[in-house]
Amino acid sequence: MVKLAENKHYSENKAVERFPVPAKVYLPLIQHLGKACNPEVKVGDTVSLGQRIAGVQANVYAPIHASISGVVAAIKECPHPVLGRAKAIVLEGNGLEEDKNFTLRNRQEVESLSLVDIRNIVLEAGIVGMGGASFPTHIKLNPPRQLDTLIINGAECEPYLTADSRLMVEKKAEITEGIALIASRLKIKEVYIGIEDNKPEAIQAFSGVPGIKVKVLKSDYPQGGEKQLIRNILGKEIPRGKLPFDVGVLVQNVATVYAVYEAVFKGRPLMERVVTVTGSCLKNPRNLLVRLGTPIKDLIDFCGPLREEPAKIIIGGPMMGIAQYTDEVPVIKSSGGILLMGAQEAKTLEEGPCIRCAACVRSCPVGLMPCQINLASERALWSLTKEYGAGDCIECGICNYVCPANRRLLQTIKRAKLEGARA
Ligand code: SF4
Ligand code: SF4
Repeated sequence: MVKLAENKHYSENKAVERFPVPAKVYLPLIQHLGKACNPEVKVGDTVSLGQRIAGVQANVYAPIHASISGVVAAIKECPHPVLGRAKAIVLEGNGLEEDKNFTLRNRQEVESLSLVDIRNIVLEAGIVGMGGASFPTHIKLNPPRQLDTLIINGAECEPYLTADSRLMVEKKAEITEGIALIASRLKIKEVYIGIEDNKPEAIQAFSGVPGIKVKVLKSDYPQGGEKQLIRNILGKEIPRGKLPFDVGVLVQNVATVYAVYEAVFKGRPLMERVVTVTGSCLKNPRNLLVRLGTPIKDLIDFCGPLREEPAKIIIGGPMMGIAQYTDEVPVIKSSGGILLMGAQEAKTLEEGPCIRCAACVRSCPVGLMPCQINLASERALWSLTKEYGAGDCIECGICNYVCPANRRLLQTIKRAKLEGARA
């Protein structure tokens, strides 16, 4: 664990605001771990808000939905925040915001839904892990064994980011409903929510909620990693290559639980999310509820004017996020933050060759060799990256942080994980 400067003060007290409906959205066909979707619409088609527009025959995937109503303007390669470029469906809005695709359910109707029903709703809603992992949630709701414990991840240990923290304060009732839904259908008896001690409002919000134990965690990095959370809350270790399921635990991020609530009670697929837009370059850092596919340029303009030209634009936080080459990339399901760093803050240093110091190996909290995965990933040797355990990487970014050669370790490991899962 490392202690980092938090820099959450820019936005931690800013209530979530709804970002205006964008005129155009760019919805990549791959926004999840698993197989890329295929378009289910063609150029010129009219689509309505929340309509499913892409999917695929596969076990591991999550369908994509129209985040605005309008017309399919193009299906083409576009900037992608993780992959650089990827095929996307481009929608041009028509201003109609009907809710005809949403099935509201009252409590009685929800209570009659089985685990299989909930899983199908979650699958059809395209929900993935919104803490950054992007793993399809319906699969996590199909554990291979009976689980004892549900841990809700409210740690939000990345510096600068405050989206989850605001969600916990402002959507406590909905998150509590989502937690109860998951715990009851999976017959899980013990439920914890892990929150770092730098979020007193969120801790207070969940203190005293029946059936949920609040575990206050030290604000050290990477407290929010699944394995770290399980170790620090339950004292259980997950062996290399194993998953939380193997020790009887399910971990879900607060934003994911909120998305499950929205899908089950309101019939709304995953088509928007809360994004922290922050950093020293911005005059007005904010937490925004944003339609997926919105170009980050629109959000930056909304939070401007700029105090200075950003030296680095990162999607995500400074540790786990990915530096972008263009501000035309869209918000996708895993984009919890947009960070604009000034020259001083970004310390943009040239990437050098690996000097074999092994600092990354010594620091990796899950015992990987980031330098080796990096080299294999740069050569597109996806089976080798798998062999080196890229899939176990929790994307904490500590290897980047400690590397004296400024190697882009995390970026290449993330790529290896996505490519490995697609292979
Ligand atoms: S490889 Fe890097 S990013 Fe992945 S878990 Fe290890 S230190 Fe963290
Ligand atoms: S920390 Fe950087 S320079 Fe050192 S071994 Fe790892 S990749 Fe190479």
